[in-house]
Amino acid sequence: MITVRVPAKVNVQLGVGGLRADGFHDLANVFFAVALGDEVTASDSSEGITLSCSGPDADAVPLDDSNLAARAARLLAAHHGIADPGVHLHIAKAIPVAGGMAGGSADGAAALVACDALWKLDTPFETLLELAAELGSDVPFALLGGVALGRGRGEILEPLAAEGTFHWVFAVADGGLSTPAVFRECDRLRDEAGTGSADSDVPTPDADPALLAALADGDAVALAAALTNDLQTAALSLRPALAATLRAGTEAGALGALVSGSGPTCAFLAKDADGAAAVAAALRASGTCRTAHATYGPVPGAAVVA
Ligand code: ATP
Repeated sequence: MITVRVPAKVNVQLGVGGLRADGFHDLANVFFAVALGDEVTASDSSEGITLSCSGPDADAVPLDDSNLAARAARLLAAHHGIADPGVHLHIAKAIPVAGGMAGGSADGAAALVACDALWKLDTPFETLLELAAELGSDVPFALLGGVALGRGRGEILEPLAAEGTFHWVFAVADGGLSTPAVFRECDRLRDEAGTGSADSDVPTPDADPALLAALADGDAVALAAALTNDLQTAALSLRPALAATLRAGTEAGALGALVSGSGPTCAFLAKDADGAAAVAAALRASGTCRTAHATYGPVPGAAVVA
């Protein structure tokens, strides 16, 4: 039996370019891995690839072939020419589902690492990264962890320097938001504003030097000032109630606040661990979210638990 722990991500910068002909957007995406994470346990099975899930959001996780953990197991087996793979994957889910924290992608990355160890395949890390990119744009970062700049669809990764530990709070909303729906809303709002949404209309996004410096210096105040998410207006347009969540965390003393990825989870940067605990408690009491978790990062990517 192999258990792999895998982090969720928050995008400290999510720069969204125009809509490309292939239906994707060019991104400048600064991923940051946080300790809030899932655990995926792989054990032998003679019944093919089977799944189970536990945790408060377990009912929202599909247990069929669409689950990214199952797809990862199948992809790894196919890569190695294993005709009839057998594994049971149990997902202990702590990452909000459809919350903009790449929970499904995390489970896909964890399943790659867990099955690789269970089946004793010793797949090179570079190959695991390639398989991860086939599964989805956010999967390679869940393998890598730490802090990284994602370009292209987000899957071309460059590790970034980050000093020390940053303290975060995540406010979990009731219900999820569909990532494709949030990108469509972003395009619609750009068209409505008259700026246009095609990739010829929108400048190619790039990493913000002030944000990179704040990460490298371990400067939470400067990082808070540089947090940006080009999807935030679209997420707020689809879920106006998130404005109250962002306000509640800021009023409780957070240094900075933003919607995480495509939302609806909201992320708050705190001064230190005590500050994060206070912001989380205030958010839980505010009635503007289902719950709130204090956590920290950066942390490593998917790894077998000793
Ligand atoms: P991202 O930030 O990468 O856009 P997300 O965090 O918003 O993703 P996920 O939790 O990955 O969203 O879930 C999106 C959808 O993916 C879910 O509604 C679910 O149907 C599907 N899904 C597939 N595999 C999983 C999984 N292992 N865990 C959760 N959802 C999964």
